[in-house]
Amino acid sequence: MSYVITQTCCNDASCVAVCPVNCIHPSPDEPEFATAEMLHIDPKTCIDCGACADACPVEAILPDDKLDPSQMRFAEINAAWYEDHPAPEGWKPLVPTPAPPRDRGTLRVAIVGAGPAACYAAQELLERSEVEVEMFDRLPTPFGLVRAGVAPDHPGTKAVTESFEWSFRREEFALHLATEVGRDITHAELLEHHHAVIYATGASSDRRLGVAGEDLPGSHAATEFVAWYNGHPDYADRTFDLSGERAVIVGNGNVALDVARILTMDVDELARTDIADHALTALRKSNIREVVLLGRRGPAQAAYSNPEFLALGDLTGVDVVVDDADLELDPVSARAVEEDAATALRVRLASEYAGRPVRPGHRRIVFRYLAAPSELLGDDHVTGVR
Ligand code: SF4
Ligand code: SF4
Repeated sequence: MSYVITQTCCNDASCVAVCPVNCIHPSPDEPEFATAEMLHIDPKTCIDCGACADACPVEAILPDDKLDPSQMRFAEINAAWYEDHPAPEGWKPLVPTPAPPRDRGTLRVAIVGAGPAACYAAQELLERSEVEVEMFDRLPTPFGLVRAGVAPDHPGTKAVTESFEWSFRREEFALHLATEVGRDITHAELLEHHHAVIYATGASSDRRLGVAGEDLPGSHAATEFVAWYNGHPDYADRTFDLSGERAVIVGNGNVALDVARILTMDVDELARTDIADHALTALRKSNIREVVLLGRRGPAQAAYSNPEFLALGDLTGVDVVVDDADLELDPVSARAVEEDAATALRVRLASEYAGRPVRPGHRRIVFRYLAAPSELLGDDHVTGVR
């Protein structure tokens, strides 16, 4: 038996330091860590101690005999990574960062934002002695994108907030909610009381497509739609016209996959999540039967991660549709498939979807590759995409 890392892995590497045989990779000191979609356990080296599963904040690690059918594929994905990246010999402990000298007094740090980046920053600081942290967020609730960005059907990912409780309970930590920098307190005031200010507020504006028709009613940024179904107070009053049968999503990263799932999933399944009530009411009346995702690049370069792409295939009542013709690879893509296991898996999954039947009565998530919009059509609202 060995343990297996599954879909919800968020690459925080909490498991790496506790593994007694160094069989979880890539670790933060390895170059592949920067681009890895998830970490992997080497099944040949794992000794089944379970320490990594206890350390994982999002319950992504399971023994291989406890995987449900939708997770079985991850045993193969974990093992396949080691075909290209042989596990290093022996256990090399991570070298801890030296503690700052104690004779300098207390370091006071303000963190603006209370999302995951802010919380991880606070945790890193508070693990050192003589540090005090004050955290500020303009919203009345903490955890930023964990609340307003993570899809409601991914509760395992949301469990990461439990790992922040340690910081939030410390005497050296204070949290100021509903406090906006620039309105309730200024940057200069923060600097009067702190030695350093960390801005962990994220990027809240959208990137424009730059095509005609982009501002027509019926064209929305994913940020807006995601924040709406997650109950973000700034977006709760938005309305979305779901009366048509087909929605088009420009882009095929993991957020695009989230939106596609929310638009096609069985609403009764969504009702068992923490999706906002107003979104559930609107989705119950939705007529959307097909969601088309446009990706500028081919299936070898698609922006989604393999675990999320794989999980789409398990949605009840939904078919994932890929056109065989899109799977003809150009020489550069073909070489990437030969050289990189993750790229090979990405193309293999697309080809598996291409071979599946499209069942009558099922809703559909359709992937179109090498396709970008040149214009949104319509006079007073979007009626089509060229
Ligand atoms: S079960 Fe133990 S040996 Fe196996 S990966 Fe987890 S920590 Fe390492
Ligand atoms: S602790 Fe869990 S989420 Fe973090 S890297 Fe390991 S498996 Fe992924």
